Amino acid sequence: MMKDKKGHLIGDYQDHRILDYEQMNDRLDHLKICIEQKEIGRTTFDYPIRHFTFGNGPYHAILTAGTHAVELITNCFLIQFMEYLEANPEVIDPSVYTLHFIPILNPEGTIVLTSAIRTVIPRETTPFWEELFCIQYYMNAKVEDDYVLNMKDQDTKLQMWMFRYATPDCIDKKHEKLKKSIQKIIQEQDLPKGVMAQWSSNGVGIDLNANVWHPRYEKEMISRKPVYHELRLNQISMISPGPIGCPYRPSKFQLEPENGAILNLYQTLIQKEKVIGSFIYHACGNLIYYLDEKNEKIKRENGKDYTEYNESVAITYQKYTSYKILSNHKETTMDYVLKKKLPGTILIELGNIRATPLSQFVDSIDCVYTNIMNDNKKAIIETLKTMKLQYEKSQKN
Ligand SMILES: [Zn+2]
Repeated sequence: MMKDKKGHLIGDYQDHRILDYEQMNDRLDHLKICIEQKEIGRTTFDYPIRHFTFGNGPYHAILTAGTHAVELITNCFLIQFMEYLEANPEVIDPSVYTLHFIPILNPEGTIVLTSAIRTVIPRETTPFWEELFCIQYYMNAKVEDDYVLNMKDQDTKLQMWMFRYATPDCIDKKHEKLKKSIQKIIQEQDLPKGVMAQWSSNGVGIDLNANVWHPRYEKEMISRKPVYHELRLNQISMISPGPIGCPYRPSKFQLEPENGAILNLYQTLIQKEKVIGSFIYHACGNLIYYLDEKNEKIKRENGKDYTEYNESVAITYQKYTSYKILSNHKETTMDYVLKKKLPGTILIELGNIRATPLSQFVDSIDCVYTNIMNDNKKAIIETLKTMKLQYEKSQKN
């Protein structure tokens, strides 16, 4: 239905969808039923990693977004879900559950990424134009993906070229230390123009998911042999600090403060409370990963096998999203460490559309955005029930 004469693609363009770091925090500041707790930690450049809870029941679950800053849809989804709970608190019984939200796990990366996005899509942009920019980004990435796959192309990427004026200067001066750090990384590694719009890492260029004790490119890290990223960032090596993939700061392993904070949250909660599971959000692929422990080399400390627990949690989540379930995994990720730590943990890849950070905000193709927002809300609410059931079952055995 045409609501005004401004022109429409099919879809609802009433509201803005993309949130920058400031807007996210502003929205979080306005929450009333989700209560802010003490931050779980601070980043290298002293940004708080904010923590909110909903409910005060005995069964606890953890929800995180934005491990990879470029997967911006995850932050936006989790914040929207918190707002949805504020408006509809009856959907989850607060006397049964306590939900722990970490909506911005990687604040530095989110500042870098969203500052870059705002150079092309300013806040004043209408929702309709926001959609068009996202489609343009998606189409550019689609063309480039084909060039990489079919021509082994390593040239400048159109979707990054859109952001070629997004230099560290677009980061507000109140983030001076972070800005200098990004400037230094881009210069030293000679990173391509537009790279800030691809930023997954934190402010020192470390990929939080790769930041584990024995990372995937351990040998190459030691021998300083470059490893190139596949597809979109195939001109960038992952053994040096940068937008993606680099597991630790040269020259020896160090756990990044963001990971220290999230591990500590898991550990302290598991010790004190009945923690029934967690939802770790990434993008994209419309996938659910759970831990199949049947063929695990490393057993849990108590030797228990939680495969059935993990699987039934994944199956419930699938029922409301139709996402594909996978049980394969890389042992060299922080997500794996968390899955190993807490039964009932699933990793969800939001969106069936390629190319972060903007394609998942497209709605005119397959209602990508609307489906992400609606299906996952319902899925969390229902999956919590399965988590609780499985938790109780595991306590009896
Ligand atoms: Zn990711």
